[in-house]
Amino acid sequence: MLSIERLSKRYGDMEVLKEIHLTVGQGTTTIVIGPSGSGKSTLLSCINLLELPTEGAIRIGDRRLDFSEGSKPGQRAILSFRQQTGTVFQGNYLFPHMTALENVALGLIAVKRWNKADARAKAAALLDKVGLGACRDRYPHQLSGGQQQRVGIARAMSMEPKILLFDEPTSALDPELVGEVLEVMKQLTREGITLVVVTHEMEFASRVADQVVFMEQGAILDSGSPADIFGRPRHDRIRHFLNRLS
Ligand code: ADP
Ligand code: MG
Repeated sequence: MLSIERLSKRYGDMEVLKEIHLTVGQGTTTIVIGPSGSGKSTLLSCINLLELPTEGAIRIGDRRLDFSEGSKPGQRAILSFRQQTGTVFQGNYLFPHMTALENVALGLIAVKRWNKADARAKAAALLDKVGLGACRDRYPHQLSGGQQQRVGIARAMSMEPKILLFDEPTSALDPELVGEVLEVMKQLTREGITLVVVTHEMEFASRVADQVVFMEQGAILDSGSPADIFGRPRHDRIRHFLNRLS
């Protein structure tokens, strides 16, 4: 589904991602962990092309974009490639003057040019799916942080992306609201949606991950099954990281 080949990202002189290789199978869940500043968010940003890689290539499905010297893709290729991904960020980026339903329907209307009735019907179905059917007419400030994140998930799914990306979706939430968001994500993993999730929720990670990727200083130090990475980590750095969290 997704493959990342020798991907590097530099900001000026600073190399933030160094020759990343990563393969994500269709319908699988990949959990990305690692210390703060290791490049996890930048990796997601290079997959959804909010940041452009400096080197390397990304393939989603049968489409491939090459960023190596002399073959920088154009703006149109970037925009259409970007539509293959949906992203849920740490904070919510809902529009405050729009209801939950309008937030979810917006992309379908503005980008996909759906008529309003169809877009609203699909948005309502997605809100039902994340357990928020009763909240569709509320504005973001009338929703809890956990509910806002679930609206964010419905919105990301509205465009039917091939891959859903999550960047620490529960980090900004009060502890009692984390579970409801993880529960919705767990449901997605059972539906065969392809997920790449940056999170510090290790118990969740060990339950749902098909693949765990540990990043450090812009590189993938190790990757494998949850049993490999959590159960018998091969690197001291990973052991220390996991010990600090537990
Ligand atoms: P993580 O998500 O793992 O905490 P990030 O991907 O946010 O790490 O950041 C990785 C490194 O890249 C950090 O050293 C950060 O300061 C740097 N960085 C991130 N975004 C930018 C940017 N826009 N300009 C310059 N440096 C950046
Ligand atoms: Mg980050």
